[in-house]
Amino acid sequence: MMGTKARNTAPLSNISLEDLVPQDHLYRHLDQKLDLSFVREFVQETYAQGGRPSIDPMVFFKLQLVMFFEGIRSERELMRQAADRLSVLWYLGYNLKEPLPDHSSLTRIRIRYGVEVFRRFFETVVDQCQQAGLVWGKELYADATKVQANAAVSSLKPRFAVEAHLENLFASGRTQEQTDDLDGLQGDGSPPDLPPLASPEQTSLAETSLGERHVEPVEQEEPPVPRQLHPSLDVALHEALTKVNSARHDWIERVGEPNRAITRGNYQRMADFQVSTTDPDATLMQGKGGGSHLGYHTHYIVDGGKARIILAALVTPSEVMENQPVLDLLWRTRFRWKLHPRQFTGDTTYGTAENIVALEEQQIRAYVPLPDFDKRTEFFGQRDFRYDAEQDVYICPNGAELHYAASGSTEDYRLYWAKAKVCNACPLKAQCTTSSRGRRLSRHVDEDYLERVRTYHTTEPYKKAMRKRSVWVEPLFAEGKQWHGMRRYRLRRLWRVNCEALIRAAGQNLKRLLKKRGWGRRPWPEGAANALSEPSSEELIPLHAPSLTEKALAYGEKVRMKDLLKPLPVLDIPLVFAPSLARRRVSSFHEDSTDSRPLWLARCIFLDKAGIRDRTSWYLSLSDNLFKRVFQQAEHLYGTFSEQENKGLLSEPTSISVKK
Ligand code: SF4
Repeated sequence: MMGTKARNTAPLSNISLEDLVPQDHLYRHLDQKLDLSFVREFVQETYAQGGRPSIDPMVFFKLQLVMFFEGIRSERELMRQAADRLSVLWYLGYNLKEPLPDHSSLTRIRIRYGVEVFRRFFETVVDQCQQAGLVWGKELYADATKVQANAAVSSLKPRFAVEAHLENLFASGRTQEQTDDLDGLQGDGSPPDLPPLASPEQTSLAETSLGERHVEPVEQEEPPVPRQLHPSLDVALHEALTKVNSARHDWIERVGEPNRAITRGNYQRMADFQVSTTDPDATLMQGKGGGSHLGYHTHYIVDGGKARIILAALVTPSEVMENQPVLDLLWRTRFRWKLHPRQFTGDTTYGTAENIVALEEQQIRAYVPLPDFDKRTEFFGQRDFRYDAEQDVYICPNGAELHYAASGSTEDYRLYWAKAKVCNACPLKAQCTTSSRGRRLSRHVDEDYLERVRTYHTTEPYKKAMRKRSVWVEPLFAEGKQWHGMRRYRLRRLWRVNCEALIRAAGQNLKRLLKKRGWGRRPWPEGAANALSEPSSEELIPLHAPSLTEKALAYGEKVRMKDLLKPLPVLDIPLVFAPSLARRRVSSFHEDSTDSRPLWLARCIFLDKAGIRDRTSWYLSLSDNLFKRVFQQAEHLYGTFSEQENKGLLSEPTSISVKK
């Protein structure tokens, strides 16, 4: 007989959330393992001594974490979910009948705290990671990713028109803050934050620069006292340092805001002419699939330790290149956590002379690729000339000297010139120059440092760092985009997206910290290094590249076997045999999906020169052909594998599980 269910809405009695929320719930673990009471101290100065009690800052930050973990993109939606979810209510410490804060209060609290409180929150999480031994600090990796802004390209308008419009709004007595918010709705579609009409003092505060406006708490009337330098510095040095520091552009202090007054020659940025009326800080960028978007650049500095802790995060407008804020982020990272990195690794964009000199002078190896200009010309390149440092001359392939003649096109370059009559009589002239005035060479004033970096390029540590770089920071961006809403910022304005990015980076670090502290199984991928970390057993085979494995499994990408096996032909110790090459099945278990796919596993045994087993490594590939090719190559190089060793070469597919 078919049953029918009558609605039963009788009031509940003697029910406690303590009984209703399962003991092993994620938020119970989170609450148990992470004490957020430290945030009260951070925000103390942003509240007045008397008056109505505010929402507990811990509740605010707990809501931010719920938003991060649940991938919620709107504060309205967050509060709707919080009201519906017993576990979230329990985590926040609210009873069933207690009214929750209004969503608009979260917006106002964010304005009250400013980006500096969010940064302190992020840094405290990193502090805790460091105390838990998750920060290695010997290697640092930098990368940046483009993230779309919450604004359409059609909102771009000529900058002068927008500035005139804002001028009119100021004239009507509103603050800059209010003007900003009139630009558009919040990311969740809620009305803009409109504080009451401001006093003249607040108006002047609002007219200060963007970063300063939000770094300072709302009630603070006195400008902050600059932090004193170390008292043992003598007065002259103190003054010189103060002068240098006040002249430089501090990216962190300015919350990623570029100095638009700095231009290069006649070049002018699009951002100087056009501004979005929806998000004035977002600038035009090229999308991956083509087309233009408004967006930002999110910069990460990541530790080289297995936990891959994010040590610094900063958002800048998209036209700010990766190499611009990197030194500020690096020095902040280094001094904030007292790290002594021995190497820094980044892609070609980071390889500017300024960055290289700054790193090398601090005894940090700059592992960055440098462009090879010699390959761009059919004539002799700079490396065909020998530099004699003692005499400050270049010696050309024909033995002639090129003497210093003048500064180059910029102060950074020195020009060396060969005599015209020597060159015109030279038999190698056709390979060297077409000029009748003699060959010229330009040398960077810091060429010694650049040369030093070029010598790194042939070393194995550099190659290893480059391989590591390709799988170190990118998966963190992938994790953020896939699971935590990093494809598009939900908030608008630079300081707000910085708050959003700092909470996201803190959340990513928290996942690793909570893994270390033990919080049971987590439903999200948390990074390559923690996958496959269980001890080996019949069911769990230790794989050589867990990071790549997890990346392939979690994001459906291909394992880059060629990266792993590139060093094979140049090994000092030969690959002697590969006794088991078997087709296996690897499964990955996510909360919401199970992925299972066949792949090739191979055990490679390396012998030392005396023929004694040195080490064994497991390799895996999703591609049959790639593996076969590699082993054919190995066979060709190192001789055939013995019959007995090849017995298990193509055994039957077996099922193994890789626990995530
Ligand atoms: S052309 Fe001049 S600089 Fe070039 S190889 Fe001949 S002598 Fe040397």
